[in-house]
Amino acid sequence: MPRHSESLVRNLARGAVLGMALVPVLVYIFTGYFGAKQMAFDDARVQASRANVVISANPDAWQYVAERFLDQIAEVRHQDTRTELTDFEGKMLAQIGDECLHWCVSDQAPLLDFGRAVGDLTVKISLVPILAWASFLGVLGLFVGLALVNLLNRHVLIPLERTRVANIELAFYDPLTRLPNRRLLMVRLDQALVASHRSQEFGSVMILDLDHFKVINDTRGHDAGDRLLIEAAQRIRTNVREGDTVSRLGGDEYVVMVEHLGREETSAARQAEMIAEKIRCALNQPYVLSSSKTAYHGTTSIGVVLFRGQQVSSDTLLKQADLALYRAKEAGRNAIRFFNPEMQSAIDSRAAMESALRQGLLQAEFQLYYQPQFDQTEKLIGAEALLRWFPANQAPIPPAQFIPLAEESGLIIPIGLWVMETACAQLKAWEHGPLSTLTVAINVSARQFRQTDFVDRVSEILQRTGANPAQLKLELTESMMLEHIEDVIAKMEAIQALGVKFSLDDFGTGFSSLFYLKRLPLRQIKIDQSFIRDITTDANDAAIVRAIIAMSQSLGLEVIAEGVETQAQRDFLRSCECAQYQGYFYGKPVPISEFARGLPCNALVDTFIPA
Ligand code: C2E
Ligand code: CA
Ligand code: CA
Repeated sequence: MPRHSESLVRNLARGAVLGMALVPVLVYIFTGYFGAKQMAFDDARVQASRANVVISANPDAWQYVAERFLDQIAEVRHQDTRTELTDFEGKMLAQIGDECLHWCVSDQAPLLDFGRAVGDLTVKISLVPILAWASFLGVLGLFVGLALVNLLNRHVLIPLERTRVANIELAFYDPLTRLPNRRLLMVRLDQALVASHRSQEFGSVMILDLDHFKVINDTRGHDAGDRLLIEAAQRIRTNVREGDTVSRLGGDEYVVMVEHLGREETSAARQAEMIAEKIRCALNQPYVLSSSKTAYHGTTSIGVVLFRGQQVSSDTLLKQADLALYRAKEAGRNAIRFFNPEMQSAIDSRAAMESALRQGLLQAEFQLYYQPQFDQTEKLIGAEALLRWFPANQAPIPPAQFIPLAEESGLIIPIGLWVMETACAQLKAWEHGPLSTLTVAINVSARQFRQTDFVDRVSEILQRTGANPAQLKLELTESMMLEHIEDVIAKMEAIQALGVKFSLDDFGTGFSSLFYLKRLPLRQIKIDQSFIRDITTDANDAAIVRAIIAMSQSLGLEVIAEGVETQAQRDFLRSCECAQYQGYFYGKPVPISEFARGLPCNALVDTFIPA
């Protein structure tokens, strides 16, 4: 039965209950009240004429009609009325009907005695019996109505609803796992493509295939196979978000569709890979398919494709994911493959680099290089510690390549701690030599800074190494100030309380809110090298640098220019009264041994700790 006619039946049933209860009540009240009143009025008229008075009031036409139409019922109620005839002082002249009086309606009309007014005619009707009867009829009607609806429900509506749900289930869901089937998947995928077109966010379709599923069916029977399929469906469901679609295409093939993977392709691919990996791991856990048999260990192959907008149809997307799945199987199964080969190789090399990073940390493949910083009088005042990675049997990998990956994978946390520890140990080693006044600046990544125990870690390292906190400088970037600024400020203040200073790195490239600049407990601003590069040729850059220096001075902040490569740049900066300098013109980042050697105080080389 179509939906609208069903709701019609439902509404009719509701109407029936209401009607059964209300209609008799209304009819009874209406006829009882007006009929009785009319009767009483007539009696009063008779009585008045007996008392030699004339009633001038005429019942309205509608009262007359009601009287005629409802005569029979009114007759009954007439028993419960009383009519009194009183004079103007309220003295009763005559009385009709029962003596029992409750609340009553008073209908007053002047009484005339041969043209002279002698009193009022009051008609009073007791409503109690009328209401009692009306309530009885109402309750009776209600019960009859409910009984009718109950019958209707039991014999018509519930069976109808069951059939409807069963039809929907059959049409859109897989009966075994109760997951959406291909039909519903395609509907949702089409909707997702439209939504992605609007938001320009990436989404992903993954096809999963349980490796060697046929073996289970053949060796342990179809029941065990079914149980495996149900269990696998549950595991997939619990490993994706609420809004993602998990569907079963049939056999041992499932499709997962995820949305909102952001607008950046590499990051979307990375997220899709992480989800696929999570599902793969969950599906590879042992299955207990029956109490007597040993646990079943299975693996899964997954093909992944990304989508954005509607350039590729839903059918094609499924084919692409299927092709990727084929490649995963070709690669020996128990694997994840992307449809797009470039994406696949990017994912592969990232994965390889990530595991190499992990190895690197264990095998001490990292080193800190130091780049000197000078003041206006060419006096060495400090150094920035910059991380270098020398993987075994490979060319060194620059920080721009491995730092983002270390951030994403969380490896930046142990790496960052190592950097801080090494830099602090270096400060301690300089303690009693001519370099004892130098500061060391280290770069702190956003993820590292956001760690809840970051303040404790800094404090711990300072204590352990015995370094002077006043000589440690943490370089933060403006991007860190974008989230939870109050937390950032609180953390910075706690670290400042330890005696450590802060420098705002790459200044001018981020959002540079002057408001925050004033609120943050900063010691220094570092003008980004992109402004310094063309400072002598680009009037805009020159103006920006001048403005930054003037602003820092008025805010009482130190200012350092980084990326100073030429004498001309240095001279220009000097003319703007820039106080501190760092760049290739003064010296490149070098290992600690060379840092010492390049300086006038190279006699102190042996006080440097090896990196
Ligand atoms: P950064 O903090 O802005 O560091 C300055 C970068 O500019 C360094 O690159 C440095 O070698 C380079 N540089 C210095 N002077 C000049 C110059 O005169 N000309 C030019 N063209 N470049 C100059 P590097 O060492 O490759 O580091 C790149 C970025 O990697 C750093 O940018 C920093 O964001 C990050 N990084 C380096 N070490 C660490 C670390 O220990 N922890 C974290 N979280 N990030 C680090
Ligand atoms: Ca820096
Ligand atoms: Ca910088």
